[in-house]
Amino acid sequence: MVRHGRSLVAALLLGGLVCLLSACSKEPPPPLSRDEIFRQRLELPALYLTAKTHKRVIAPMSKGMFVDAETGEICWPALACNNPDCPGRKAGEPFVFIEPDAGSYVKPDGSIGYDPARAAAERVVGPCPQCAKIRDPRTETNAQRQQYISWVRPYVLPETAERMKQLDEELHRRVLFERRQPTPPAEDKSPAVDGPQPTRADPATRPDKARTTKG
Ligand SMILES: [Zn+2]
Repeated sequence: MVRHGRSLVAALLLGGLVCLLSACSKEPPPPLSRDEIFRQRLELPALYLTAKTHKRVIAPMSKGMFVDAETGEICWPALACNNPDCPGRKAGEPFVFIEPDAGSYVKPDGSIGYDPARAAAERVVGPCPQCAKIRDPRTETNAQRQQYISWVRPYVLPETAERMKQLDEELHRRVLFERRQPTPPAEDKSPAVDGPQPTRADPATRPDKARTTKG
Protein backbone atom coordinates (compact mmCIF):
# COMPACT_ATOMS: atom_id res chain seq x y z
CA MET A 1 0.00 0.00 0.00
CA VAL A 2 2.84 2.38 0.98
CA ARG A 3 4.80 1.41 -2.12
CA HIS A 4 1.71 2.05 -4.19
CA GLY A 5 1.23 5.44 -2.54
CA ARG A 6 4.83 6.36 -3.16
CA SER A 7 4.69 5.43 -6.83
CA LEU A 8 1.49 7.45 -7.07
CA VAL A 9 3.27 10.51 -5.65
CA ALA A 10 6.12 9.93 -8.08
CA ALA A 11 3.66 9.67 -10.93
CA LEU A 12 1.97 12.89 -9.85
CA LEU A 13 5.31 14.72 -9.61
CA LEU A 14 6.33 13.39 -13.00
CA GLY A 15 2.94 14.36 -14.36
CA GLY A 16 3.41 17.89 -13.02
CA LEU A 17 6.83 18.10 -14.63
CA VAL A 18 5.52 16.88 -17.97
CA CYS A 19 2.70 19.39 -17.62
CA LEU A 20 5.20 22.21 -17.04
CA LEU A 21 7.37 21.13 -19.95
CA SER A 22 4.44 20.96 -22.34
CA ALA A 23 3.13 24.28 -20.99
CA CYS A 24 0.12 22.46 -19.60
CA SER A 25 -1.42 21.56 -22.95
CA LYS A 26 -4.97 20.42 -22.20
CA GLU A 27 -4.60 16.64 -22.02
CA PRO A 28 -7.94 14.89 -21.62
CA PRO A 29 -8.17 12.48 -18.66
CA PRO A 30 -7.20 8.88 -19.47
CA PRO A 31 -10.12 6.86 -20.83
CA LEU A 32 -12.13 4.54 -18.58
CA SER A 33 -10.98 0.94 -18.40
CA ARG A 34 -12.71 -1.63 -20.61
CA ASP A 35 -14.27 -3.29 -17.55
CA GLU A 36 -15.71 0.02 -16.40
CA ILE A 37 -17.09 0.78 -19.88
CA PHE A 38 -18.82 -2.62 -20.06
CA ARG A 39 -20.09 -2.31 -16.49
CA GLN A 40 -21.60 1.10 -17.22
CA ARG A 41 -23.15 -0.23 -20.42
CA LEU A 42 -24.97 -3.02 -18.57
CA GLU A 43 -26.23 -0.53 -15.98
CA LEU A 44 -27.78 1.81 -18.55
CA PRO A 45 -31.52 2.32 -18.10
CA ALA A 46 -33.89 0.33 -20.31
CA LEU A 47 -37.65 0.31 -20.75
CA TYR A 48 -39.68 -2.68 -19.59
CA LEU A 49 -43.43 -3.19 -20.01
CA THR A 50 -45.94 -5.46 -18.32
CA ALA A 51 -48.36 -7.48 -20.45
CA LYS A 52 -51.73 -6.76 -18.78
CA THR A 53 -51.60 -3.25 -17.38
CA HIS A 54 -48.91 -2.04 -19.84
CA LYS A 55 -47.02 -0.45 -16.98
CA ARG A 56 -43.73 1.19 -17.96
CA VAL A 57 -40.80 0.30 -15.73
CA ILE A 58 -37.27 1.66 -16.11
CA ALA A 59 -34.55 -0.71 -14.91
CA PRO A 60 -30.95 -1.57 -15.84
CA MET A 61 -30.51 -3.07 -19.30
CA SER A 62 -28.96 -6.23 -17.92
CA LYS A 63 -31.91 -7.07 -15.67
CA GLY A 64 -33.74 -9.33 -18.14
CA MET A 65 -37.26 -10.27 -17.10
CA PHE A 66 -38.37 -9.63 -13.54
CA VAL A 67 -41.51 -9.24 -11.43
CA ASP A 68 -42.91 -5.77 -10.75
CA ALA A 69 -43.62 -5.58 -7.01
CA GLU A 70 -46.60 -3.23 -7.44
CA THR A 71 -48.62 -5.07 -10.09
CA GLY A 72 -47.19 -8.54 -9.54
CA GLU A 73 -46.74 -8.79 -13.31
CA ILE A 74 -43.67 -9.82 -15.27
CA CYS A 75 -41.72 -6.90 -16.76
CA TRP A 76 -40.54 -7.67 -20.30
CA PRO A 77 -37.79 -5.79 -22.18
CA ALA A 78 -39.41 -3.40 -24.67
CA LEU A 79 -38.94 -3.99 -28.40
CA ALA A 80 -39.29 -1.45 -31.22
CA CYS A 81 -40.49 -2.05 -34.78
CA ASN A 82 -38.45 0.13 -37.12
CA ASN A 83 -40.51 -0.60 -40.23
CA PRO A 84 -41.19 2.87 -41.74
CA ASP A 85 -44.64 1.60 -42.84
CA CYS A 86 -45.54 -0.09 -39.55
CA PRO A 87 -49.22 0.65 -38.77
CA GLY A 88 -48.26 1.04 -35.10
CA ARG A 89 -46.05 4.09 -35.72
CA LYS A 90 -47.17 7.23 -33.89
CA ALA A 91 -45.81 10.70 -34.69
CA GLY A 92 -42.90 9.17 -36.56
CA GLU A 93 -41.91 7.12 -33.53
CA PRO A 94 -41.39 3.36 -33.89
CA PHE A 95 -44.03 1.09 -32.45
CA VAL A 96 -42.96 -0.16 -29.00
CA PHE A 97 -44.18 -3.50 -27.78
CA ILE A 98 -43.20 -6.60 -25.84
CA GLU A 99 -43.15 -10.26 -26.72
CA PRO A 100 -44.24 -11.98 -23.52
CA ASP A 101 -43.50 -15.67 -23.42
CA ALA A 102 -46.78 -17.37 -22.59
CA GLY A 103 -44.90 -20.11 -20.75
CA SER A 104 -43.59 -17.71 -18.11
CA TYR A 105 -45.71 -16.94 -15.09
CA VAL A 106 -45.36 -15.52 -11.58
CA LYS A 107 -45.34 -18.17 -8.87
CA PRO A 108 -47.04 -17.56 -5.48
CA ASP A 109 -43.64 -16.84 -3.91
CA GLY A 110 -43.09 -14.00 -6.40
CA SER A 111 -40.45 -15.75 -8.50
CA ILE A 112 -40.85 -16.50 -12.20
CA GLY A 113 -41.80 -20.01 -13.24
CA TYR A 114 -41.98 -21.65 -16.64
CA ASP A 115 -44.70 -23.94 -17.94
CA PRO A 116 -44.00 -25.46 -21.41
CA ALA A 117 -47.66 -26.47 -21.74
CA ARG A 118 -48.76 -22.82 -21.56
CA ALA A 119 -46.06 -21.84 -24.05
CA ALA A 120 -47.17 -24.45 -26.59
CA ALA A 121 -50.78 -23.28 -26.40
CA GLU A 122 -49.89 -19.86 -27.79
CA ARG A 123 -48.70 -19.39 -31.35
CA VAL A 124 -46.70 -16.26 -32.05
CA VAL A 125 -48.07 -14.44 -35.12
CA GLY A 126 -44.93 -12.58 -36.14
CA PRO A 127 -42.19 -10.30 -34.95
CA CYS A 128 -44.37 -7.15 -34.81
CA PRO A 129 -48.07 -7.47 -33.90
CA GLN A 130 -48.93 -4.27 -35.82
CA CYS A 131 -47.08 -5.30 -38.99
CA ALA A 132 -48.87 -8.66 -38.76
CA LYS A 133 -52.03 -6.77 -39.79
CA ILE A 134 -50.58 -5.75 -43.15
CA ARG A 135 -48.64 -8.92 -43.88
CA ASP A 136 -49.79 -11.82 -45.99
CA PRO A 137 -47.74 -14.92 -45.15
CA ARG A 138 -49.11 -16.73 -48.26
CA THR A 139 -47.53 -14.33 -50.76
CA GLU A 140 -44.60 -13.17 -48.65
CA THR A 141 -41.12 -14.04 -49.95
CA ASN A 142 -38.43 -15.26 -47.60
CA ALA A 143 -36.55 -11.97 -48.05
CA GLN A 144 -39.64 -10.00 -47.03
CA ARG A 145 -40.11 -12.19 -43.98
CA GLN A 146 -36.49 -11.64 -42.97
CA GLN A 147 -36.95 -7.89 -43.45
CA TYR A 148 -39.87 -7.83 -41.01
CA ILE A 149 -37.79 -9.75 -38.49
CA SER A 150 -34.80 -7.41 -38.84
CA TRP A 151 -36.98 -4.34 -38.30
CA VAL A 152 -37.66 -5.45 -34.74
CA ARG A 153 -34.88 -4.55 -32.32
CA PRO A 154 -34.63 -3.91 -28.59
CA TYR A 155 -36.09 -0.50 -27.77
CA VAL A 156 -33.40 1.90 -26.56
CA LEU A 157 -34.32 4.92 -24.44
CA PRO A 158 -33.06 8.20 -25.99
CA GLU A 159 -30.81 8.97 -23.01
CA THR A 160 -29.39 5.44 -23.15
CA ALA A 161 -28.71 5.76 -26.89
CA GLU A 162 -26.87 9.00 -26.17
CA ARG A 163 -24.80 7.46 -23.38
CA MET A 164 -24.07 4.34 -25.48
CA LYS A 165 -22.63 6.57 -28.18
CA GLN A 166 -20.37 8.22 -25.59
CA LEU A 167 -19.29 4.83 -24.23
CA ASP A 168 -18.51 3.64 -27.78
CA GLU A 169 -16.31 6.70 -28.22
CA GLU A 170 -14.75 6.03 -24.82
CA LEU A 171 -13.97 2.44 -25.86
CA HIS A 172 -12.40 3.74 -29.07
CA ARG A 173 -10.28 6.16 -27.00
CA ARG A 174 -9.34 3.27 -24.70
CA VAL A 175 -8.14 1.14 -27.64
CA LEU A 176 -6.00 4.02 -28.95
CA PHE A 177 -4.74 4.74 -25.42
CA GLU A 178 -3.68 1.12 -24.92
CA ARG A 179 -1.88 1.09 -28.27
CA ARG A 180 0.13 4.15 -27.23
CA GLN A 181 1.24 2.56 -23.96
CA PRO A 182 4.81 1.23 -24.02
CA THR A 183 5.10 -2.43 -23.04
CA PRO A 184 5.55 -2.34 -19.27
CA PRO A 185 9.12 -3.19 -18.21
CA ALA A 186 9.47 -6.62 -16.65
CA GLU A 187 9.28 -6.04 -12.90
CA ASP A 188 11.60 -8.85 -11.99
CA LYS A 189 12.23 -8.67 -8.26
CA SER A 190 12.95 -12.36 -7.81
CA PRO A 191 16.39 -13.25 -6.46
CA ALA A 192 19.02 -14.39 -8.90
CA VAL A 193 18.42 -17.91 -10.06
CA ASP A 194 21.14 -20.42 -9.33
CA GLY A 195 22.50 -22.58 -12.07
CA PRO A 196 23.21 -21.87 -15.70
CA GLN A 197 21.67 -18.67 -17.04
CA PRO A 198 20.20 -18.58 -20.53
CA THR A 199 22.57 -17.07 -22.99
CA ARG A 200 21.82 -13.95 -25.01
CA ALA A 201 22.45 -15.93 -28.16
CA ASP A 202 19.38 -18.02 -27.50
CA PRO A 203 16.47 -15.62 -27.00
CA ALA A 204 13.87 -18.37 -27.32
CA THR A 205 14.86 -19.84 -23.97
CA ARG A 206 14.94 -16.55 -22.10
CA PRO A 207 12.34 -16.61 -19.32
CA ASP A 208 11.09 -13.09 -20.08
CA LYS A 209 9.95 -14.36 -23.50
CA ALA A 210 7.33 -16.43 -21.76
CA ARG A 211 5.91 -13.43 -19.96
CA THR A 212 2.65 -12.16 -21.23
CA THR A 213 1.12 -8.85 -20.39
CA LYS A 214 -2.32 -8.88 -18.92
CA GLY A 215 -5.22 -7.17 -20.58
ZN1 LIG B 1 -44.36 -3.07 -37.07
